Amino acid sequence: MQSSLIRFTRSLAPHWLSIAAGAFLLSMFFLIGNLYSSQMELRQNANARLVSVGEARAAEISDFLSERRQAAVRLAGSEDIANYFTNLDLGMSVRYGLFANLAAIERRFQATLDEEKYQGQLAYVRLAFFDRNGIAQVDVGASSAPTLSLTVNRAEPSIQIDEKRRLIVASAPVLRKGTMRGAVDTVSSLNLLASLVSTNDLGQPNEFLLGDEGDVLLPVERERSPIVAHGRALTALQSGRIQPLSNLEAPELKGYLALRTPIGGTRLSVLRLASEDDLYGNTLSPVSVFYIGLFAIILFGLAIGFERMRQNAARLQIKFTESNRHRAELAEHNLSLSQEIERREAIENDLQRQSEALDKTNAELRIAAAAFNAQEGMIVTDTKGVILSANRAFVSLTGYTMEELIGQTARLFRAHRRNAEFYQSMWNSVKNAGGWQGDMSLRTKSGEHCARWLTISAVKNEAGEVTNYIGSYYDVSKLKHAEEKILELAFFDQLTGLPNRVLLIDRVRQALNANTRNKSFGALLFIDLDNFKTLNDSLGHDVGDQLLKKVAQRISRCVRADDTVARFGGDEFVVLLANLGTQKAKAAALQAEAIGEQILSAFVETFQLDPYEYPCTPSIGVTLFSPEDRNVDELLKRADLAMYDAKTAGRNSLRFFDPVMQIMISARASLEADLREDLKKERLLLHYQPQVDHEGRLLGAEALARWPHAERGVVSPSEFIPVAESAGLILPLGASMLKIACRQLARWSADPATEHLTVAINVSALQMRQKNFVEEVRAIIEQTGADPHLLKIELTESTLVSNVDDVIAKMDKLKAIGVGFSLDDFGTGYSSLSYLKRLPLDQLKIDRSFVKDILVDPNDAAIAQMIIALSKSLGLSVIAEGVETDEQYAFLASQGRLNYQGYLFGRPLPPEDFERFARAFSPRRSSRQERLFIDRDLRIKRL
Ligand code: C2E
Ligand code: CA
Ligand code: CA
Repeated sequence: MQSSLIRFTRSLAPHWLSIAAGAFLLSMFFLIGNLYSSQMELRQNANARLVSVGEARAAEISDFLSERRQAAVRLAGSEDIANYFTNLDLGMSVRYGLFANLAAIERRFQATLDEEKYQGQLAYVRLAFFDRNGIAQVDVGASSAPTLSLTVNRAEPSIQIDEKRRLIVASAPVLRKGTMRGAVDTVSSLNLLASLVSTNDLGQPNEFLLGDEGDVLLPVERERSPIVAHGRALTALQSGRIQPLSNLEAPELKGYLALRTPIGGTRLSVLRLASEDDLYGNTLSPVSVFYIGLFAIILFGLAIGFERMRQNAARLQIKFTESNRHRAELAEHNLSLSQEIERREAIENDLQRQSEALDKTNAELRIAAAAFNAQEGMIVTDTKGVILSANRAFVSLTGYTMEELIGQTARLFRAHRRNAEFYQSMWNSVKNAGGWQGDMSLRTKSGEHCARWLTISAVKNEAGEVTNYIGSYYDVSKLKHAEEKILELAFFDQLTGLPNRVLLIDRVRQALNANTRNKSFGALLFIDLDNFKTLNDSLGHDVGDQLLKKVAQRISRCVRADDTVARFGGDEFVVLLANLGTQKAKAAALQAEAIGEQILSAFVETFQLDPYEYPCTPSIGVTLFSPEDRNVDELLKRADLAMYDAKTAGRNSLRFFDPVMQIMISARASLEADLREDLKKERLLLHYQPQVDHEGRLLGAEALARWPHAERGVVSPSEFIPVAESAGLILPLGASMLKIACRQLARWSADPATEHLTVAINVSALQMRQKNFVEEVRAIIEQTGADPHLLKIELTESTLVSNVDDVIAKMDKLKAIGVGFSLDDFGTGYSSLSYLKRLPLDQLKIDRSFVKDILVDPNDAAIAQMIIALSKSLGLSVIAEGVETDEQYAFLASQGRLNYQGYLFGRPLPPEDFERFARAFSPRRSSRQERLFIDRDLRIKRL
C-alpha cells in the first residue's frame, strides 16, 4: 500500500510542473472570480448610495415645498382671517371693526415673515392676503416679489416656481362655509434650496435642480456649468438609474455618470453628476480584473519557462562535465589507436603499391590483347622491322597467312615506293618522338591497294631501350570520303562539278601571291552565256541545266591543266589563267585572248539538248593581272565589266577590260531611268518604214519605235528595246506602241490615199506570253477604231520557243478578228519546221542579215531561197527586209513574187513624211513600171 503510493508519487514527479501549473491556474481563477464579484458588489453599493442620496435630496426639496404649502394653508385658515370674514359678513364697518381684524392679520403675517426661518435664513420674502376680487387686503414684505394672479386656480393649495425671478410662490384658498372668499400667497426665495444642492470636493456643483423645461434652477452659479446647455437632454434621462453620459447628451461631460431623481408632486428633478473615480473610488473595473488575471497567467508561464530552462541548463552542465571526462579518456585511447593505425597503414600502402603495379600490368596486357585482336590491322616487329606477329585483322586484310608474314618486313605489302628522304624522316620521328603516323597504302596479296593510316609506336623496356615496334593500319577510307564530300560541297558546284565561287576566289588569291613572287602575269576570263535567261524561262530549268553542264565541259577542254574553270553562279563561268609567264603584259594578253577565242569557237557547234538543238554563244570579258595586282574583288569586277562590254558589242564576242567601260555601264542604268520616265510621259513614238509589193506598189509600213532622248538625240530601238525587256518595261512600251499604230491606222482610213495601207507592229516574246494579250489588243482596236484587217503583228522566233500551243491559241483568236501575222527575223533563230506548219501565219520575213550578203555569201542566198520555197509550200507570202541595193532587189525578184522593205524603198519615216510618200504613191499616180523611193534627204524618187 505504502510502496504503491510511493510509486504513484514517483510516477507523478516528472509532471510536477504541469500539476503545479494546473493548481495555480485553478486558484487563480478562483481568486479572480472572487475579486470580480467583490468589486462588482462594491460598485453596486456605490450606486445604491448615489441613488439614496439622490432620493434623500429629492425628498428634502419635496418636504420644503410641501411645508411652504402647509404654511400657506395654515395662514389662510388662521383665526384672524376667520374673524375678519365673520365681521365682514356681520356688516361691520371697515373703519372701526374690520381695520382691527386686518391689523391683526398683518401682525400675524409680519411675525411669520420675521420669524419663520429655514436653515437659518428667513423663509419668506412676502406674505399677502387677497380678497375674492384679487385685491390685496394685507401685504407684507417686498412688494416687488410677485404673488399669484387671479387667473390661477386658488380653490386648491398650490406651489408655483417663478424661474425668472427665482421665487417660490405657495398659495392657499381662504374658505368660509365651503366657498372661497380669498387667498393667501407666500413668496420664498428659491435660493433657500441652494444649501441643499451639494458641491464636490473642488467646489464645483455636482447636484443640480432641473426645472420642467430643462432649466437649471440651482445652484445659482449655474451659468458657468456646462450642463446648462444640455439641460433639456438631461431632463430626458431615465429617472432613478445611474447612466454614463454619452456624447449626445453633453460632450463636455463625457465619462461622467448621471442620476436624475424626480421630486414628488412637482415637475422638478434633482440631477447628480459623478465621475467614475468619485463614485467607485479605487474599485477595479471588470476589464482591469481580466488584464490582471492575464498578466498573472503570463507571469506564471514565464516563471515555468525559466524554471524549465534552469533545469535544462543544470542537466546540460552535468552532461558536459561528464562528456569532458569521457573525451579525455577517449583522447588517450585515440592516441594509442592512431599510432597503431599509422603502423598498419604503412604496411597496407606497401601492399597497395605492389597490387596496383600488378593491376596496371594486367590491364595493359588486357588492352594490348584486345587491341591486338581489334578491327584494325596490327603487326609487331623487332627493332629491324622484321615481323614477329600480326593480328587476325591484318591477316585477313592482306590475304597473307601468318606464316607468310612472319619473318618478312613491311616491304612485302608496300603499295608505293617513296623516296629515301621519306623513310629517313619517318624513322627519325619514330626514334626521336617514339612514333610516326601518316598515309600509307597497303598492297594485298592479290595486288589490290588499300588506303590506310599507319601509326608506328616504339615499345621500350624498363631501361628505356626500344625492343619492338607496333604498326597499326587504320581504315580511314570512310573518313576520307566524308572529308572529300564536304570539300566538294563547300568548294565545288554540284551541277557542273567545277570549283565554285569560294574556291575560285581562293585560287585567284593564291595566284596573285605567286605572281607577285614570280613577277608574272595572269588573266581572268568572265564568261556569260547569251540569252540564257530566255532559254531557261522558256524551255525550263532542266534544259538550262543540261546546257550548263555541256558548256562546263566545253570550256574545260579549252584550258591548260594548271588553269581553273569555275562556275561563278547562274550562267556565269570564270576561267583563271594563273600563270601567263613573266613576259610583257602584251604577250600575256595575246595568250589570254587565244584561250578566249578558243572558248568562243568551242561554242560554234550547237548544243544537243534533249530534244532541242540549241545554238548558244558566250560573251567573254577578260582582264589581265600584273604582279602588282592584289585585290581579287577588283579583278573580278573588271572582268565582269569587260564581259558587259562584250555583250553590248553584240554578244558572242570577247572584250578586254578598259576603264572606259565603267562609264558605259553607268550610262545603261541612267538610260533605264530615262526610259521609264519618258514612257510615262508618252514621249516615245513610231516611225513608219514602207513595205511594197513586187511591182513597187506601196502596201503599208512597219512601225518602228523611236525614242527622242532629251540629251542623246534619237535612241535606237536596238539599244532601248533590250533595256526595256530587262527592266520590265516592255509590256507598257508594247501596249503604247500598239495604241499609236492603231490610232495611225484609224486616221489613215479617212484619206483615200492612205485608207488601204497596212501597219506591221513588232511584238516582243514577253508581250505574247502575257495572259490577257488578246484582250488587250482587242480593246486597243476597239478604242481606236482601227480596222483589224490592216493590222499585222510581227513575231520573232523567240516567241515560239516555249508553249507553242498557247501562242497558236492566241494567234487564232486574233486572226478571227482579222489581225495578220508575220514571222520576223526568220532563219536566225531555232525555228522548227514542224510547228511552222501549225502556226496561223500570213507571212515570213527574210531577215536583213541574209539580204545583206545575199550576193556575196552563197549560204545566205541559199537560206533566202529556202525561205521562199518554204513559204510557197506553206501558202505564205514573203517579205524581204533590209533591201538596200538594186542588185539585192534584182536577185530577190528573180526568186519569185516577193514583197520588200528596205532603204532602197524608203527609210523609217515620221508619220507626216510617210503620208507625203503615200500620196505620191496613190494608185492614180503610180504606174506598174514605176518604183518610188525616198532617199536619205527624204526626196521621193522614181526608178
Ligand atoms: P526589226 O524588226 O528587224 O526591224 C527592222 C530594222 O531594220 C529596223 O531597225 C529598221 O530601221 C532596219 N532597216 C530597215 N531597212 C533597212 C535597210 O535597208 N538597211 C538597214 N541597215 N537597216 C534597215 P530599227 O528601227 O533600229 O529597229 C531595230 C529593232 O528594234 C527591230 O528590228 C525590232 O526588233 C525592234 N523594234 C523596233 N520597234 C519595236 C517595237 O515597237 N516593239 C518591239 N518589240 N520591238 C521593236
Ligand atoms: Ca520587225
Ligand atoms: Ca527583222
